[in-house]
Amino acid sequence: CGIVGYAGARPALGIVLDGLRRLEYRGYDSAGVAVVCENELLTEKRAGKLANLEKVLSERAATDPEGCAASPIGIGDGTTAIGHTRWATHGGPTDRNAHPHVAPDGRVAVIHNGIIENFAKLRAELEADGVQFSSDTDTECAAHLLSAALAELRAAGEANGPQLLAAAMRAVCQRLEGAFTLLAVDAEVPGAVVGARRNSPLVVGRGAGENYLASDVAAFIEHTRDAVELGQDQIVLITAETIEITDFAGQPAAGKDFHIDWDS
Ligand code: GLU
Repeated sequence: CGIVGYAGARPALGIVLDGLRRLEYRGYDSAGVAVVCENELLTEKRAGKLANLEKVLSERAATDPEGCAASPIGIGDGTTAIGHTRWATHGGPTDRNAHPHVAPDGRVAVIHNGIIENFAKLRAELEADGVQFSSDTDTECAAHLLSAALAELRAAGEANGPQLLAAAMRAVCQRLEGAFTLLAVDAEVPGAVVGARRNSPLVVGRGAGENYLASDVAAFIEHTRDAVELGQDQIVLITAETIEITDFAGQPAAGKDFHIDWDS
């Protein structure tokens, strides 16, 4: 329903929560965030309004200063993050079905808008391989597939880094049918967010020393008005300094640059 991603130098949690608030008019069933800080993946998600998530985050800050804003590796300090508000299509509007979905290794988090049409087949294949699911969503299979694709690329000797995350996302997208905007982060690749788009919107916000991804420009318009609209079946990789777009096969591709000149 609403998707926001940030890679930059500023604390990402507040930026992503602000972005989600700006998409709030769409209505939703749950909200969640994943923040990468150094090599930690920190996630929080809750059914209901954004206020429910914010309450949990502030309790976490109060009761667990080591694991939150006061700490140099706390959720409040990470400068890479993704955030989601969910319009449930597969699985009830519960905490466990809220996004992000995290692979069992606890290192990879995925958020998704849309519907993965072939999820039942993918899930059956993954379960036959012994993968345990922790939600009823169509989305969760993408988290498992991404984690497996990353492991496979690493085992094949590919260098760790943002390009690896993009390559793994491409491998996943080649297996998915349906409509999706996907964003993902990997604790092993701090500083990067990868996005993918098929039949569902995804725009990039180009900032100075920071970049944004969102399902709607409203999420980042207060930070930048320079935007890039992704084309169909494209992958985008953002870091604080770079925006790289390819097609699902890995060929360089271009989005459509535009300037947002209307009032927010
Ligand atoms: N199909 C996914 C789910 O039910 C994503 C829904 C959405 O677009 O928010 O979790």
